[in-house]
Amino acid sequence: MIIAEVIGMLCKRCPECGRSSYSASDRGSWICPYCGEDLRERPACPARPSEPEGRPGLGGLQGTIPV
Ligand SMILES: [Zn+2]
Repeated sequence: MIIAEVIGMLCKRCPECGRSSYSASDRGSWICPYCGEDLRERPACPARPSEPEGRPGLGGLQGTIPV
């Protein structure tokens, strides 16, 4: 279910390629899936359902997720 995927997810933006990657946890290693950069030391932020990048259509779910 898409909503379950989004809640609790973390996002990091790669300084090398500028793309965002997502994970359920920032513990352990975090390697950029696009260029292989090690993002372990980068700050993580909560992934937002309205994040347009790579997740087209999720904006329509706004309002259905309890905050
Ligand atoms: Zn990258």
